[in-house]
Amino acid sequence: MNVLVINAGSSSLKYQLLNTEEKTLLAKGLCERIGLDNPRLKHEASGKEEVVKEASMKDHGEAIKLVVDALMDKDHGVISSMEEIDAVGHRVVHGGDYYAESVLIDEDVKKAIKACYGLSPLHNPANMTGIEACEKIMPNIPMVAVFDTAFHQTMPEKAYMYGLPYEYYEKHKIRRYGAHGTSHRYVSARAAEFLGKDIKDLRLVTLHLGNGSSISAVKNGVCVDTSMGLTPLEGPLMGTRCGSIDPAIVPILMEKENLSTSAIDEVMNKKSGVFGVSGVSSDFRDLEEAAVAGNKRAQLALDMFAYQVRKIMGSYIFAMGGVDAIIFTAGIGENDANTRARICDELDIFGIELDKEKNTSIRGKDADLSTGQSSVRILLIPTNEELMIAQDTAAIVGTAK
Ligand code: AMP
Repeated sequence: MNVLVINAGSSSLKYQLLNTEEKTLLAKGLCERIGLDNPRLKHEASGKEEVVKEASMKDHGEAIKLVVDALMDKDHGVISSMEEIDAVGHRVVHGGDYYAESVLIDEDVKKAIKACYGLSPLHNPANMTGIEACEKIMPNIPMVAVFDTAFHQTMPEKAYMYGLPYEYYEKHKIRRYGAHGTSHRYVSARAAEFLGKDIKDLRLVTLHLGNGSSISAVKNGVCVDTSMGLTPLEGPLMGTRCGSIDPAIVPILMEKENLSTSAIDEVMNKKSGVFGVSGVSSDFRDLEEAAVAGNKRAQLALDMFAYQVRKIMGSYIFAMGGVDAIIFTAGIGENDANTRARICDELDIFGIELDKEKNTSIRGKDADLSTGQSSVRILLIPTNEELMIAQDTAAIVGTAK
């Protein structure tokens, strides 16, 4: 089945066309600056050069139309008609407590996505724009919503509730939802396959470390805890997000710096994290370079990140009563050997022993980075959220037919 995977942001739209039987990527691309001046489409058919097209994109509808045209283009296209797109899979950030699995989109699903606008005010409306645009351009093609929060819906109450008055949960649904669920689900399933074990017999800690970072505890195939909370701000400090801080800092800073609620939100989401601590960059490549050149705050930011990730990982190992494998994924997890080494440093006493040579030499493929003596497997699993979205979409559309 050919599935078009759509990840719609407020002014951007990423897409991939995948064949789910072959697990192959046919084409991918990105629409940028939708609704703004100088919009453009970057499109790349597999095995061909990327093409960049500047064209009017007043809204997501026009962007989708350009995407479909690019996919059917005689020079850099990969299909000859729209009928060759069997289904569309949409990444949707928040499914609240409505969905623990991906779902075929109908009017009720759209209502539920809208009901979660308050929980994800930036992402859900943008995701909905993508859904409505596809409906207009491809009215007869079935569509599936794949939620970032769905995988975490198996968390027990004791893990997802906050120590606030219960009425706020009842009135406003204030609780932990988590994010990056599609990635955590993909890498934990791949890890079980890689180890040749049934996921139901495994205790895993999945470390999705990228611009946004989250850590999950996956026990017997289901998520039992995750570090992102009501919003993606909780957990370790991230590229520009502060992560978990003493909540009392918020009113104190608002008063001392005379900050409004939106200004403090901006500080915590856009000006903090390794960027805020180092004053250098949110990108770990820049931080490593600055630290080597002697920048102490860059080194501090790197040390804080590894320390915080390691503490969360340790707490999950205790929460699950042990661990069989630790999985590194996403931009930092897949590429930054120094950060992996910092996170696993001196954990051999717990049976967690990273092989230094494998850690620095292996890139871009599923691999075991632990030593022969390590009782816990330390795995590198490149994430593939688009493939997971496409496979969910194919499974749901296949059974709905
Ligand atoms: P993601 O959000 O998963 O796309 O991850 C993006 C982040 O991964 C970047 O901001 C970098 O901090 C990090 N990253 C990507 N490549 C490398 C690399 N080769 N070494 C260190 N960090 C990397």
